[in-house]
Amino acid sequence: MTTWFSDTCPCIIDVDFSVPQQTFLGWTHKCEIHKDLPDASLKGQIIAQNAIYKIPNDGNKAAKATNDAAKKTEMNRINALGPGVWNN
Ligand SMILES: [Zn+2]
Repeated sequence: MTTWFSDTCPCIIDVDFSVPQQTFLGWTHKCEIHKDLPDASLKGQIIAQNAIYKIPNDGNKAAKATNDAAKKTEMNRINALGPGVWNN
């Protein structure tokens, strides 16, 4: 089991990455834009949102820096929308 922190939203989920289907196991935090999603669709939506910022890992430092900045901007935008919900 891996606790996965998205780098484009503040969601924190537990995923079993050892199996091909990468089974969703649970969540610790749902961010403001994902807080109303049912557990069954949470992982897919987080990964889809994260994938918007996926770039080739080709060593292009300028492209990576631009992409990192865009991800940080998106993270800050979502954080500013509200606190999301914590699973206690
Ligand atoms: Zn999220």
